[in-house]
Amino acid sequence: MQATMKALVCRTGGKIELTDRPVPEIQAPTDAVVQVTLSTICTSDLHIIHGAVPRAVPDTVLGHEFVGVVTQVGDAVQNLRPGDRVAANCVTHCGECWFCRRGYVNNCAHGGWELGCRIDGCQAEYVRVPYAATSLNKIPDVLSDRAALLTGDILSSGYFGARLCEIHPGDTVAVIGAGPVGQCAMMCARLFGAGKVIALDIDSARLRMALEHGAADVGIDPEQEDAAAAVLRETEGRGADGVIEAAGGENTFQMAWQIARPNAVVALVAMYEKPQSLPLERMYGKNLIFKTGGVDSAYCDELLEHLASGRLDTQFLLTHQGPLNDILAGYRTFADKSSGCMKWVVTPYER
Ligand SMILES: [Zn+2]
Ligand SMILES: [Zn+2]
Repeated sequence: MQATMKALVCRTGGKIELTDRPVPEIQAPTDAVVQVTLSTICTSDLHIIHGAVPRAVPDTVLGHEFVGVVTQVGDAVQNLRPGDRVAANCVTHCGECWFCRRGYVNNCAHGGWELGCRIDGCQAEYVRVPYAATSLNKIPDVLSDRAALLTGDILSSGYFGARLCEIHPGDTVAVIGAGPVGQCAMMCARLFGAGKVIALDIDSARLRMALEHGAADVGIDPEQEDAAAAVLRETEGRGADGVIEAAGGENTFQMAWQIARPNAVVALVAMYEKPQSLPLERMYGKNLIFKTGGVDSAYCDELLEHLASGRLDTQFLLTHQGPLNDILAGYRTFADKSSGCMKWVVTPYER
């Protein structure tokens, strides 16, 4: 009889259920199986539950952000062995196709965002990871599982947003959304040399958190003051040199281009549940560059080095946790945000 494990499955219609599933096995020589030591709940999981991810497959185990211990590797996986501690990339990718060779791993011809969306993900006791050699990164010994947990999704997304912005030393970067991705984007903007980081969010607790942990220098609540006017005030009347939109709210796309200075890069890493419109007649002459993502999370090893050296630390974002047994409560708390939940960490199932 095949061994079973606990796993959180998303049914058609968005109903989630903690259920028994067979422990995954190697299917291709490029696979690995990982015992999950910590995973998280992510806003993208909520998007799937809300039916806002058309490519999501029903009856899939949710979850795409995790760390764990390798238990099995396929014959073609040369760089990993059972017992290795690994941080997973939320984008499994082959490393060899046209897109992968250029770092556009999100559009890998053989991968992309599959885990917890199209194939079984990590809100379970074990997970099968395709293209393990390129999609799993060994965690340096000096880093705890918690310290490495956000590497492959949230931190990669923030890094991607900051990278898209083409930040020059001393630039003022505005980040819309002080949620987990937004705060990672703020920290990464500094890595790229931003001189001033402005956080915009309607949640004052999140703004306070970003300021207290040094992710941002200035916090603006667009419900308390006009965002565009406030950013002009902070930028000698020019507007932000780079804007990272990490909120995906009702009006945050419009805010993103309004707070940008002429010729700025506006990086949209938020996931929208509705179409957004570009009012080109009003934007004419502002000469903006818009970039969208789909995180190309091709920099996990680099990020693990930054974490190991202390240049980055994301652990303050891990505000809540509970065992896999309590994951439904975790989803409620995470979605509700009222208790200040930034990230819900899922610890192993307790028997
Ligand atoms: Zn995610
Ligand atoms: Zn590829």
